This record gives sequence, C-alpha cells and structure tokens, in this order.
Amino acid sequence: MTGPFDLLVGPIGCLVPCDAPAPRTGPALRDLPTIPNGAVGIRGGLVAYMGPYEEVAGAESKANVDASRQTVLPGFVDPHTHIPFLGDRSAELVLRLQGKTYMDIGRAGGGILSTMRAVRNASKGSLLEAARGTAARFLSHGVTTLEAKSGYGLSVESEIKQLEVLGELGDSGPQTVIPTCLGAHFVPPEFKDDPGGYVDLLCDRLLPEVARRGLAKFCDVFCEEGAFTIEQSRRILLKGKELGLLPRIHADEIEDTGGAALAAEVGAVSADHLMAVSDAGIEAMARAGVCATLLPGTSFYLRKGYAPARKFVEAGCPIALSTDCNPGSSYSTNLLHIATLGVFGLGLMPEEALWAITLNAAYALREHDRVGSLAIGKRADLCVWDVPSPLHLFYPYGENPLRAVFSGGRRVLGGV
Ligand SMILES: [Zn+2]
Repeated sequence: MTGPFDLLVGPIGCLVPCDAPAPRTGPALRDLPTIPNGAVGIRGGLVAYMGPYEEVAGAESKANVDASRQTVLPGFVDPHTHIPFLGDRSAELVLRLQGKTYMDIGRAGGGILSTMRAVRNASKGSLLEAARGTAARFLSHGVTTLEAKSGYGLSVESEIKQLEVLGELGDSGPQTVIPTCLGAHFVPPEFKDDPGGYVDLLCDRLLPEVARRGLAKFCDVFCEEGAFTIEQSRRILLKGKELGLLPRIHADEIEDTGGAALAAEVGAVSADHLMAVSDAGIEAMARAGVCATLLPGTSFYLRKGYAPARKFVEAGCPIALSTDCNPGSSYSTNLLHIATLGVFGLGLMPEEALWAITLNAAYALREHDRVGSLAIGKRADLCVWDVPSPLHLFYPYGENPLRAVFSGGRRVLGGV
C-alpha cells in the first residue's frame, strides 16, 4: 500500500537507504546502492514506503518535503559514547601535547578520576542537563541513535545515577538512547589497594541491580593495562551475560592484552578501539562474528596509530565507526568527521565508512531491526544533507551540510 502518508519526503535527489541484511561485511561494503529521484513515505513514525518517487508522486500525504536537490540518508547511529559527563579537562589537552600519556594523566589522579569526581558530586538534574546539551550537538551532526555508557560514577549509587539519567534522556529527547553499564571503567580510589574488592562490588551488587531494574542493555569493560585485567574482564562480562546484559568490551586500545580474543571467547557483541590488536585477535573476532567498532577520533586526538581497519574488512569482520565521545581522549559529537577520519586515517572507502555509521553501527548495538537503514517498518529516522551525492560528504571536509533531521517521522532539526 502506498499512502496516505503522514509525511512524504520526495522527490529526493539522491536517496541512500543503507538497506541490506545486517551486518554488511567484506567486498559488499564497497557497494552502497542509491536511488535517484527517490522518496520516503512515513506513517505512524515508521517508514511505509521507500523507493522511486514516481510511484508515490500523487499519493495523499498530510505533509510534504521537497529534497530534490539533496541527499537523504538514514539518521546516523553512534555505537560508543561516554555521555553523560561533567567537568572541564581542557588542561589535559596541553599536558598531552607536552608529552604526558593518557594513562600517565589517569595515574596522577586526572583523567577518568577527575570526571568521576565531577559526576559523583553532580545532581541528577545537572547531569541530565549536560547530557541533553551533548545529545543536541550529536543531533546537529545527524545522529539519531546513540549508545551511552555509565563509567564515571564508579560506585553503585553514582553508576545507577548515570544510567537513570540516560533513561530519562531517551524518554524525553528526540534520539534513541541505548544504555550500557561501564562500572568497570577504572578502579576508584577507595579500592586502589583492593581492585578485586571493586570487581566483587560490580559482580555482586551493581550488575544485579542494573539488570533487575532494566537500566542497561549492555555490560562493558575497559580491559587495558592499568584498568582491568583479562581475568577480571572475563568475570565481569560473564556475570553480566548471566544476568541478561549483552557483553561488549574496550579492547586492545593501548596494549595488546588479548582483549579481542576475550571478546570472541565470551561472545561479545562488539569489541571497540583495537588499535593494538594482534592478527590472532582479528581472526578470533571474525570467527566469532564480533563487530569491530573502530574509534579513529581517539587515534587522532591522542596522536596515536590507527586500528588496522583493512585487515578487519579482509577478515570478514563487521566494522562500525564511532566518536567515542568522552571528555578525555576524544571530545567530539561529529560522527561525519569520524567517518572522514575513517577514510583518511583508517583507509576505508567512503561507502565503507557510511555503512559503518548506519546499518553496521545499528548491528553493533543489536538495533538493526529498528534503526540504521531506511526500510519499510523501521523507524523513520532520516537526515537531509545539502550535497548532490554521498561522496560529497567526504569531498569537501570539515563541513556540516546537514539541512534537516527527522526522528520517528517528526522533524527535530532544521528546515528544507
Ligand atoms: Zn570508550
């Protein structure tokens, strides 16, 4: 059935539905089908038609948007962010430029612990206000779905406070928010001499409470030298899994600690960062179907090497891209800029980078049945870009040609 629609977006100069079975892997990532002179018909907040405009040109619709000179893509999906946070760590930028490492700054009481202090002292209201501000910036870059993590509370009470804020952010804002419990982000100062005691607290108190109250979909761990060991990470991820929280992991970011292999072993949905991953880790992830979520903004901002993205593609691993938006190692909400770094830093083709922030990013959150592509029955999350083709999102760079954003069929930004 075509029409009547609540909203008909069309004609569209270049429609890029990003619609395919998820995940998209290997050589298929080079193929990004487009529909010239396309249309998207929306009813009840969902896509009711997607295809050539001529088939719905005369259809009844309560509202129409003419995008005949623009390119329309699904709303972008960011599968790895650290909002909500508070505080100002701009001084660390200077320390890093002077040669201090991210982990040096953390060990000296800055880094994650400085954000922890700000978050612990914050009211829920001020945390929500900060999260809304960051989410609005994501929206201005076309992000309509974002994963967001706790991990700056590092106590049962403050981790839950962060997750409650994320629940409210999703309920009251224009974006779909997928919450993750990252209690295992760093060992807090009160457990400095007893990290095992903190792991006990996570497994015996925090994760059961989070699962019982349905506050998170995922359980995540920062598995890294100086954060959590492989053994601790395994225990936390398996405990989360037993409670119904899907595992994902910060793996092999700074050192190859075997995080990628652990991701494969525990059946993680995604392993993220992977700048120092071994070839054996890549093979293990490919065999187990773990998504490689790559965060080139972190490489750029920390002035480090980039993850071996081409090896992941060649191994047949699903790849996704994300901002890693956080106040220390990658403070950006601009997912298109990250996709640009995916091209110029990771060596991806523009088509590969676009799959990695749409359908595959949704797959990395196990939300691909709902978001990440324009297909009948999915949420009508779409962005109108003032460019003639998707290649022009990369050809001029550092620009923001976004004209309008629709979330669930509702205009939430801009006009056309
Ligand atoms: Zn992270």
